[in-house]
Amino acid sequence: MDELQVGICEDDAQLRSVLERALRREGFRVRMTASGREAVEVFTESPPDLLVLDIGLPDADGRDVCQALRVNSVSSPVIFLTARDTLTDRLSGFSVGADDYVVKPFAVAELVARIRVAARRQAPPVTEGGMAGLEVDPVVHAVRNGERTAQLTPTEFRMLAALAARPGEIVRRNELRSAGWPDGAIVHENTLDAYIARLRRKLEEVASSETLETVRGVGYVLR
Ligand code: CA
Repeated sequence: MDELQVGICEDDAQLRSVLERALRREGFRVRMTASGREAVEVFTESPPDLLVLDIGLPDADGRDVCQALRVNSVSSPVIFLTARDTLTDRLSGFSVGADDYVVKPFAVAELVARIRVAARRQAPPVTEGGMAGLEVDPVVHAVRNGERTAQLTPTEFRMLAALAARPGEIVRRNELRSAGWPDGAIVHENTLDAYIARLRRKLEEVASSETLETVRGVGYVLR
């Protein structure tokens, strides 16, 4: 069997080098990154078999980085590294196709065991070719189409990323709700509608050829 390629994004240099050494010793091939920006660039260019993403990155939330990678058709399973306070905060707050998470501080052996389990799971099929030139930026929460950029709020970013990760597919209203808001948040129907209207305007702002279609009573499709 080929060596498993593990892509890691962790800003703590000490933890990075501990992980790198330990995972190489396990026979994994390891590609290290230290910021959200770098992770999106490197892992879009060359998707690893599995990703380990720190949630608390200096420039972005690791969950948004994951969303941006999904939009870029990277379907590798993800294990999040999270601080305990983030966990109580809202780990399941938005659905990012997260596979697993490990709470810091953790034993490296624990992470290795989780990596082996996650790697055995089949990555979901990648949706091909729906997106013309749209790009989402998890660092500044923006959507780009060529030269044009529109600023998004974090909630708008998370909703759009959820739609853009599955172009041509219906994303249900409750999926958008859990993408954009923490678990347990009360989101009224007309609030969701207002966000969709704003996303439509922002897609127009960047002159996107994609449009956000309503599937009445069900959800929305980006195509
Ligand atoms: Ca961190």
